[in-house]
Amino acid sequence: MEEEKIPAPGRELAGKVALVTGASRGIGSAIAVTLARQGAMVLVNYNGSGQRAGEVVARIEAEGGAARAVGCDVSDFAACGRMVEEIMAEHGHVDILVNNAGVTRDNLVARMSEDDYDYVLDINLKGAFHTIRHLTRYFLKQKKGKIVNISSVSGVVGNAGQANYAASKAGLIGLTKSVAKELAGRNICVNAVAPGFIETEMTQALPQRAREAAVASIPMGRMGSPWDVAELVAFLASGRSDYITGQVICVDGGMV
Ligand code: NAP
Repeated sequence: MEEEKIPAPGRELAGKVALVTGASRGIGSAIAVTLARQGAMVLVNYNGSGQRAGEVVARIEAEGGAARAVGCDVSDFAACGRMVEEIMAEHGHVDILVNNAGVTRDNLVARMSEDDYDYVLDINLKGAFHTIRHLTRYFLKQKKGKIVNISSVSGVVGNAGQANYAASKAGLIGLTKSVAKELAGRNICVNAVAPGFIETEMTQALPQRAREAAVASIPMGRMGSPWDVAELVAFLASGRSDYITGQVICVDGGMV
Protein backbone atom coordinates (compact mmCIF):
# COMPACT_ATOMS: atom_id res chain seq x y z
CA MET A 1 0.00 0.00 0.00
CA GLU A 2 1.24 3.52 -0.87
CA GLU A 3 2.43 5.73 1.97
CA GLU A 4 -0.03 8.26 3.36
CA LYS A 5 0.79 11.64 1.78
CA ILE A 6 -2.17 13.72 2.83
CA PRO A 7 -1.31 16.42 5.37
CA ALA A 8 -3.08 16.41 8.71
CA PRO A 9 -6.27 18.49 8.87
CA GLY A 10 -5.66 22.05 9.96
CA ARG A 11 -3.16 23.79 7.69
CA GLU A 12 -3.46 21.51 4.69
CA LEU A 13 -3.91 24.42 2.25
CA ALA A 14 -0.70 26.17 3.36
CA GLY A 15 1.13 27.59 0.34
CA LYS A 16 -1.97 27.42 -1.88
CA VAL A 17 -3.54 30.43 -3.57
CA ALA A 18 -7.34 30.39 -3.84
CA LEU A 19 -9.63 32.63 -5.88
CA VAL A 20 -13.20 32.71 -4.54
CA THR A 21 -15.68 34.65 -6.66
CA GLY A 22 -18.53 36.51 -4.96
CA ALA A 23 -16.80 36.31 -1.59
CA SER A 24 -17.91 39.66 -0.20
CA ARG A 25 -20.75 38.05 1.78
CA GLY A 26 -22.86 34.94 2.32
CA ILE A 27 -21.56 31.53 1.28
CA GLY A 28 -18.56 33.01 -0.57
CA SER A 29 -17.29 34.83 2.52
CA ALA A 30 -17.62 31.65 4.63
CA ILE A 31 -15.66 29.75 1.95
CA ALA A 32 -12.95 32.45 1.91
CA VAL A 33 -12.60 32.39 5.71
CA THR A 34 -12.57 28.57 5.84
CA LEU A 35 -9.90 28.22 3.12
CA ALA A 36 -7.78 30.89 4.84
CA ARG A 37 -8.09 29.05 8.18
CA GLN A 38 -6.59 26.02 6.43
CA GLY A 39 -3.63 28.10 5.30
CA ALA A 40 -4.56 29.32 1.80
CA MET A 41 -3.85 32.85 0.59
CA VAL A 42 -7.36 33.87 -0.47
CA LEU A 43 -8.33 36.31 -3.20
CA VAL A 44 -11.72 37.65 -2.17
CA ASN A 45 -13.52 38.58 -5.38
CA TYR A 46 -16.43 41.04 -5.33
CA ASN A 47 -18.35 43.12 -7.80
CA GLY A 48 -20.45 45.80 -6.09
CA SER A 49 -19.55 45.31 -2.41
CA GLY A 50 -15.95 46.48 -2.13
CA GLN A 51 -16.29 47.58 1.46
CA ARG A 52 -17.70 44.23 2.55
CA ALA A 53 -14.96 42.39 0.68
CA GLY A 54 -12.52 44.52 2.68
CA GLU A 55 -14.25 43.41 5.88
CA VAL A 56 -13.83 39.75 4.87
CA VAL A 57 -10.12 40.38 4.25
CA ALA A 58 -9.81 42.16 7.62
CA ARG A 59 -11.49 39.23 9.38
CA ILE A 60 -9.13 36.73 7.75
CA GLU A 61 -6.10 38.85 8.66
CA ALA A 62 -7.36 39.25 12.24
CA GLU A 63 -7.39 35.45 12.47
CA GLY A 64 -3.77 35.34 11.26
CA GLY A 65 -4.58 34.42 7.66
CA ALA A 66 -3.73 36.04 4.34
CA ALA A 67 -6.21 37.54 1.89
CA ARG A 68 -6.70 40.35 -0.61
CA ALA A 69 -9.84 41.78 -2.19
CA VAL A 70 -10.07 41.75 -5.99
CA GLY A 71 -12.88 43.57 -7.75
CA CYS A 72 -14.21 42.10 -10.99
CA ASP A 73 -17.60 41.52 -12.57
CA VAL A 74 -17.39 37.83 -13.46
CA SER A 75 -19.88 38.28 -16.31
CA ASP A 76 -17.22 40.35 -18.13
CA PHE A 77 -14.90 37.99 -20.03
CA ALA A 78 -12.12 40.54 -20.57
CA ALA A 79 -12.25 41.79 -16.97
CA CYS A 80 -11.88 38.17 -15.73
CA GLY A 81 -8.83 37.84 -17.96
CA ARG A 82 -7.29 40.97 -16.44
CA MET A 83 -8.07 39.74 -12.90
CA VAL A 84 -6.36 36.40 -13.58
CA GLU A 85 -3.30 38.04 -15.15
CA GLU A 86 -2.93 40.42 -12.18
CA ILE A 87 -3.20 37.53 -9.71
CA MET A 88 -0.66 35.47 -11.67
CA ALA A 89 1.74 38.43 -11.85
CA GLU A 90 1.54 38.93 -8.09
CA HIS A 91 1.36 35.35 -6.80
CA GLY A 92 2.76 33.24 -9.63
CA HIS A 93 0.17 30.52 -9.22
CA VAL A 94 -3.48 29.82 -8.43
CA ASP A 95 -4.27 26.39 -7.03
CA ILE A 96 -7.95 26.63 -6.15
CA LEU A 97 -10.80 28.30 -8.03
CA VAL A 98 -14.23 28.50 -6.40
CA ASN A 99 -16.95 29.82 -8.71
CA ASN A 100 -19.44 31.03 -6.16
CA ALA A 101 -20.70 34.39 -7.52
CA GLY A 102 -24.41 34.12 -8.14
CA VAL A 103 -27.62 36.09 -8.38
CA THR A 104 -31.36 35.48 -8.67
CA ARG A 105 -34.09 37.29 -10.64
CA ASP A 106 -37.04 35.04 -9.82
CA ASN A 107 -40.29 35.06 -11.78
CA LEU A 108 -42.64 32.63 -13.45
CA VAL A 109 -41.41 31.84 -16.94
CA ALA A 110 -44.57 33.33 -18.49
CA ARG A 111 -43.59 36.69 -16.99
CA MET A 112 -39.81 36.47 -17.17
CA SER A 113 -38.10 39.18 -19.20
CA GLU A 114 -35.25 38.38 -21.55
CA ASP A 115 -33.06 40.75 -19.52
CA ASP A 116 -33.71 38.82 -16.31
CA TYR A 117 -32.94 35.54 -18.06
CA ASP A 118 -29.71 36.85 -19.57
CA TYR A 119 -28.58 38.63 -16.40
CA VAL A 120 -28.73 35.45 -14.31
CA LEU A 121 -27.17 33.22 -16.98
CA ASP A 122 -24.38 35.74 -17.65
CA ILE A 123 -23.25 35.87 -14.02
CA ASN A 124 -24.02 32.37 -12.74
CA LEU A 125 -23.02 30.29 -15.76
CA LYS A 126 -20.93 32.37 -18.14
CA GLY A 127 -19.08 33.86 -15.18
CA ALA A 128 -17.82 30.40 -14.23
CA PHE A 129 -16.80 29.70 -17.82
CA HIS A 130 -14.86 32.99 -17.89
CA THR A 131 -12.72 32.23 -14.82
CA ILE A 132 -12.21 28.61 -15.85
CA ARG A 133 -11.27 29.66 -19.38
CA HIS A 134 -8.66 32.15 -18.19
CA LEU A 135 -7.17 29.96 -15.44
CA THR A 136 -7.14 26.62 -17.24
CA ARG A 137 -3.92 27.24 -19.16
CA TYR A 138 -2.11 27.84 -15.86
CA PHE A 139 -3.69 24.78 -14.24
CA LEU A 140 -2.63 22.71 -17.26
CA LYS A 141 0.97 23.95 -16.97
CA GLN A 142 0.99 23.31 -13.21
CA LYS A 143 -0.51 19.85 -13.80
CA LYS A 144 -2.67 20.35 -10.74
CA GLY A 145 -5.60 22.39 -9.56
CA LYS A 146 -8.98 22.30 -7.91
CA ILE A 147 -12.12 23.87 -9.32
CA VAL A 148 -15.32 23.94 -7.29
CA ASN A 149 -18.47 25.34 -8.87
CA ILE A 150 -21.32 26.37 -6.59
CA SER A 151 -24.48 25.05 -8.23
CA SER A 152 -27.81 24.58 -6.42
CA VAL A 153 -30.46 21.97 -5.76
CA SER A 154 -32.56 24.13 -8.13
CA GLY A 155 -30.21 23.02 -10.89
CA VAL A 156 -30.58 19.38 -9.88
CA VAL A 157 -34.37 19.12 -9.58
CA GLY A 158 -35.68 22.47 -10.94
CA ASN A 159 -37.76 25.02 -9.07
CA ALA A 160 -40.95 26.81 -10.13
CA GLY A 161 -40.28 30.53 -10.39
CA GLN A 162 -36.56 30.02 -11.03
CA ALA A 163 -36.32 28.91 -14.67
CA ASN A 164 -33.39 31.25 -15.32
CA TYR A 165 -31.59 30.40 -12.07
CA ALA A 166 -32.20 26.64 -12.37
CA ALA A 167 -31.02 26.71 -16.00
CA SER A 168 -27.82 28.47 -14.93
CA LYS A 169 -27.22 26.02 -12.08
CA ALA A 170 -27.98 22.96 -14.23
CA GLY A 171 -25.64 24.44 -16.83
CA LEU A 172 -22.93 24.64 -14.18
CA ILE A 173 -23.33 20.90 -13.62
CA GLY A 174 -22.82 20.19 -17.34
CA LEU A 175 -19.83 22.54 -17.35
CA THR A 176 -18.39 20.80 -14.28
CA LYS A 177 -18.75 17.27 -15.67
CA SER A 178 -17.33 18.19 -19.09
CA VAL A 179 -14.36 20.19 -17.80
CA ALA A 180 -13.67 17.43 -15.26
CA LYS A 181 -13.32 14.95 -18.14
CA GLU A 182 -11.07 17.32 -20.10
CA LEU A 183 -8.73 18.07 -17.22
CA ALA A 184 -8.65 14.79 -15.27
CA GLY A 185 -5.52 13.61 -17.08
CA ARG A 186 -3.59 16.60 -15.70
CA ASN A 187 -4.56 16.01 -12.06
CA ILE A 188 -7.12 18.80 -12.05
CA CYS A 189 -10.29 18.05 -10.11
CA VAL A 190 -13.54 19.79 -11.03
CA ASN A 191 -16.59 19.31 -8.84
CA ALA A 192 -19.89 21.02 -8.12
CA VAL A 193 -21.51 21.66 -4.78
CA ALA A 194 -25.29 22.01 -4.75
CA PRO A 195 -26.51 23.80 -1.64
CA GLY A 196 -30.13 23.55 -0.60
CA PHE A 197 -31.70 26.38 1.37
CA ILE A 198 -28.92 28.34 3.09
CA GLU A 199 -29.31 31.31 5.44
CA THR A 200 -27.86 34.28 3.49
CA GLU A 201 -29.05 37.63 2.13
CA MET A 202 -30.16 35.80 -1.02
CA THR A 203 -32.71 33.73 0.92
CA GLN A 204 -33.50 36.50 3.43
CA ALA A 205 -34.87 38.45 0.47
CA LEU A 206 -37.60 35.82 -0.07
CA PRO A 207 -41.14 36.42 1.25
CA GLN A 208 -41.83 34.81 4.65
CA ARG A 209 -44.31 32.34 3.12
CA ALA A 210 -41.77 31.13 0.57
CA ARG A 211 -39.18 30.68 3.34
CA GLU A 212 -41.61 28.67 5.46
CA ALA A 213 -42.54 26.46 2.50
CA ALA A 214 -38.88 25.85 1.74
CA VAL A 215 -38.05 24.91 5.33
CA ALA A 216 -41.06 22.56 5.38
CA SER A 217 -39.52 20.69 2.42
CA ILE A 218 -36.23 20.05 4.26
CA PRO A 219 -36.15 16.68 6.08
CA MET A 220 -33.79 18.18 8.68
CA GLY A 221 -36.39 20.89 9.30
CA ARG A 222 -33.98 23.83 9.17
CA MET A 223 -32.02 25.96 6.78
CA GLY A 224 -28.32 25.34 6.33
CA SER A 225 -25.51 27.68 7.25
CA PRO A 226 -22.88 29.06 4.84
CA TRP A 227 -20.31 27.21 6.99
CA ASP A 228 -21.93 23.86 6.12
CA VAL A 229 -21.22 24.59 2.45
CA ALA A 230 -17.74 25.98 3.15
CA GLU A 231 -16.63 22.76 4.89
CA LEU A 232 -17.37 20.68 1.79
CA VAL A 233 -15.68 23.20 -0.49
CA ALA A 234 -12.56 23.11 1.72
CA PHE A 235 -12.51 19.31 1.45
CA LEU A 236 -12.88 19.45 -2.35
CA ALA A 237 -10.10 22.07 -2.49
CA SER A 238 -7.73 19.91 -0.47
CA GLY A 239 -5.52 16.92 -1.19
CA ARG A 240 -8.02 14.81 0.74
CA SER A 241 -10.24 14.65 -2.35
CA ASP A 242 -7.63 14.07 -5.08
CA TYR A 243 -9.51 11.10 -6.58
CA ILE A 244 -12.91 12.84 -6.70
CA THR A 245 -13.82 14.67 -9.92
CA GLY A 246 -16.91 15.39 -12.00
CA GLN A 247 -19.22 15.05 -9.02
CA VAL A 248 -22.20 17.04 -7.78
CA ILE A 249 -22.56 16.92 -4.01
CA CYS A 250 -25.66 18.32 -2.31
CA VAL A 251 -25.48 20.15 1.04
CA ASP A 252 -29.19 20.38 1.66
CA GLY A 253 -30.35 18.74 4.89
CA GLY A 254 -31.79 15.86 2.87
CA MET A 255 -33.90 18.05 0.56
CA VAL A 256 -32.90 16.37 -2.73
P1 NAP B 1 -25.47 36.39 -1.69
O1 NAP B 1 -25.44 36.52 -0.21
O2 NAP B 1 -26.50 37.15 -2.46
O3 NAP B 1 -24.00 36.75 -2.26
C1 NAP B 1 -23.77 36.73 -3.62
C2 NAP B 1 -22.33 37.04 -3.89
O4 NAP B 1 -22.13 37.03 -5.32
C3 NAP B 1 -21.92 38.42 -3.39
O5 NAP B 1 -20.64 38.34 -2.80
C4 NAP B 1 -21.86 39.25 -4.67
O6 NAP B 1 -20.85 40.24 -4.61
C5 NAP B 1 -21.43 38.21 -5.68
N1 NAP B 1 -21.73 38.63 -7.05
C6 NAP B 1 -22.94 38.89 -7.61
N2 NAP B 1 -22.79 39.27 -8.88
C7 NAP B 1 -21.45 39.24 -9.14
C8 NAP B 1 -20.68 39.53 -10.29
N3 NAP B 1 -21.25 39.91 -11.44
N4 NAP B 1 -19.34 39.39 -10.20
C9 NAP B 1 -18.74 39.01 -9.04
N5 NAP B 1 -19.44 38.73 -7.92
C10 NAP B 1 -20.78 38.85 -7.98
O7 NAP B 1 -25.65 34.88 -2.15
P2 NAP B 1 -25.34 33.50 -1.40
O8 NAP B 1 -26.61 33.01 -0.86
O9 NAP B 1 -24.15 33.62 -0.54
O10 NAP B 1 -25.00 32.59 -2.67
C11 NAP B 1 -23.68 32.26 -3.07
C12 NAP B 1 -23.76 31.20 -4.15
O11 NAP B 1 -24.43 30.06 -3.64
C13 NAP B 1 -24.54 31.65 -5.38
O12 NAP B 1 -23.95 31.11 -6.54
C14 NAP B 1 -25.89 31.04 -5.16
O13 NAP B 1 -26.59 30.84 -6.36
C15 NAP B 1 -25.51 29.73 -4.49
N6 NAP B 1 -26.59 29.11 -3.71
C16 NAP B 1 -27.14 29.77 -2.66
C17 NAP B 1 -28.16 29.14 -1.95
C18 NAP B 1 -28.83 29.76 -0.75
O14 NAP B 1 -29.79 29.18 -0.24
N7 NAP B 1 -28.35 30.91 -0.25
C19 NAP B 1 -28.61 27.88 -2.35
C20 NAP B 1 -28.03 27.26 -3.44
C21 NAP B 1 -27.01 27.89 -4.12
P3 NAP B 1 -21.12 41.82 -4.71
O15 NAP B 1 -22.19 42.18 -3.73
O16 NAP B 1 -19.78 42.38 -4.39
O17 NAP B 1 -21.55 42.08 -6.12
